[in-house]
Amino acid sequence: MQKLQGIAVSPGVAIGEALVMDNEGFRIPRRFVARDTVEGELERLGKAIDAASNEISHNRDAVSQELGNKYGAIFEAHFQMLNDAQLRNELEEMIRERHYSPEYAVSRTLRRYAQVFQKLESRYLAERANDIFDIEKRLLRHLLGLRREGISHLTSSVVVLAHNLTPSETANLDREYVLGFVTEIGGLGSHTAIVAEALEIPAVVGTGPFMTDVSGGDLVIIDGDQGLVIIQPDEETVARYRHEAEEIRTLATQLEALRDLPAETADGISIKLYGNIEFPYEVDHCIDRGADGVGLYRTEFLYLGVEKEPDEDVHFQAYSRVVQTMGSRPVTIRTFDLGADKIEHLPDPEDERNPFLGLRSIRLALRNLPMFRTQLKAALRASALGNVQIMFPLVSTLMELRQAKMVLADVMEDLDEHGMEFNRDMAIGIMVEVPATVMMIEDFAEEVDFLSIGTNDLIQYTLAVDRSNKDVVGLYNAADPAVLKLIAITIRAAANKSIPVNMCGQMSGNPVYTMLLLGLGLRQFSVTPSAIPEIKKICRSVNIEQCKSIAERVMAMENARDINSFLKRQLRNTVPELGQ
Ligand code: PEP
Ligand code: MG
Repeated sequence: MQKLQGIAVSPGVAIGEALVMDNEGFRIPRRFVARDTVEGELERLGKAIDAASNEISHNRDAVSQELGNKYGAIFEAHFQMLNDAQLRNELEEMIRERHYSPEYAVSRTLRRYAQVFQKLESRYLAERANDIFDIEKRLLRHLLGLRREGISHLTSSVVVLAHNLTPSETANLDREYVLGFVTEIGGLGSHTAIVAEALEIPAVVGTGPFMTDVSGGDLVIIDGDQGLVIIQPDEETVARYRHEAEEIRTLATQLEALRDLPAETADGISIKLYGNIEFPYEVDHCIDRGADGVGLYRTEFLYLGVEKEPDEDVHFQAYSRVVQTMGSRPVTIRTFDLGADKIEHLPDPEDERNPFLGLRSIRLALRNLPMFRTQLKAALRASALGNVQIMFPLVSTLMELRQAKMVLADVMEDLDEHGMEFNRDMAIGIMVEVPATVMMIEDFAEEVDFLSIGTNDLIQYTLAVDRSNKDVVGLYNAADPAVLKLIAITIRAAANKSIPVNMCGQMSGNPVYTMLLLGLGLRQFSVTPSAIPEIKKICRSVNIEQCKSIAERVMAMENARDINSFLKRQLRNTVPELGQ
């Protein structure tokens, strides 16, 4: 049994067989071969070794000729390792005695060798592990050939273990079979984490290296609440987690009863609970949880994992599905927030050293007007079908807001000319995600119909902490007094100007902060749909006076740790079943 501590990004418990994806996306499940095919499998292994050896000696000769023998020697060493009699014996024995498939035997044995090197004190020797991985990959390429499979064609339930998953790889995980996932890198606010929540599967990221310690088929437990991963757990641990999974299901069933009740505090203040979505199908999750609308539709996911930029019709189809399903309830379409960790189809500018400070979101939109206009046109057309509002991401200056509004007005004129219907009075809002925006919030509030606080980015820009970097995750904290002050200022400014303010960053879906936010005056929360029942439960269990006094105490505290433990205590006392 081996335990790994990572960062909890999507709650719940998953127990299942590991599907290990290496960096090239190979998947190597534990497969057994039938007794009467052993000879054939040994022959397949022999052929793969021969083919790989030929390839290596060819590389050795070519490199020696181009760069000299010193460099050719790297491949000579690979050649020697691959043709080592001891290695060959071990592989053959695993196939003959244990009936493992050659792929599994190769992966397991070479990973074990690599592990020995990785544990050596010498950095030079530890790096030799990479040579062994190289040999492993080469052999697997020959063994798997065309049978190389991605993770899109699964036939049984698995937990996916990978070094990293991009947001679009995560989005493409097969929800029917993938029970959860773990990645070695990644941080709390990364978009991979956000997609995991959308898929409603437990996920842990940023565990640090584990790929050499685990083989396909190993039993793995993912504890998405504690950020814990247990490889090859003992029976007692499995039993404990099965029990916990059962308890989570029971709580979810209890909360389901709240679905059609209003989100209203005990003293009768009405709260709006909206859903955050990334994909149109999630609108059904919103309906299932009784959401008051869609508070954030991250439309950039239309651009991820596709070969070509989505055209107006692709946008319109997606928006109309969401808008029509929500009926009269508002749908907040956020214009594409590409860039930073959601780049993909855009050329990666070589000099983009700080993508989070670079050409992303509204900045990117204003530099790519045809792309921006296409999206706005589709959103406006969808506004004729229901209750659409439009929201611009990462606005940091008034000029940007004005420019974006001008483009929108221009697109409206265009639609008018073509006699197309749209809602001329569609509400226009901005995300509040940059401290500079908060400093100017009174002015912004004059020029928009609503505000929405994006705490994921607001925290990262306030505390200068990359939201997707596991090495600084300890510094990324929603409860930091500086962050709370910016939130309080924004809520107050919205009240002064009588415009609605929503919060759509992940903080709003965390039960620990609900009472504080109510106390600061927040009346609209937009959260991942699965979090709606919990937040509603808290709203219905508290009164505003109590929340105000909690907020007053918190705002007088000076560090995040004290604030967090105080808030956790308050939650445990008020709604014990949700207290952590
Ligand atoms: C945020 O920054 O809080 C937010 C909701 O936007 P995203 O997570 O998509 O950057
Ligand atoms: Mg953001």
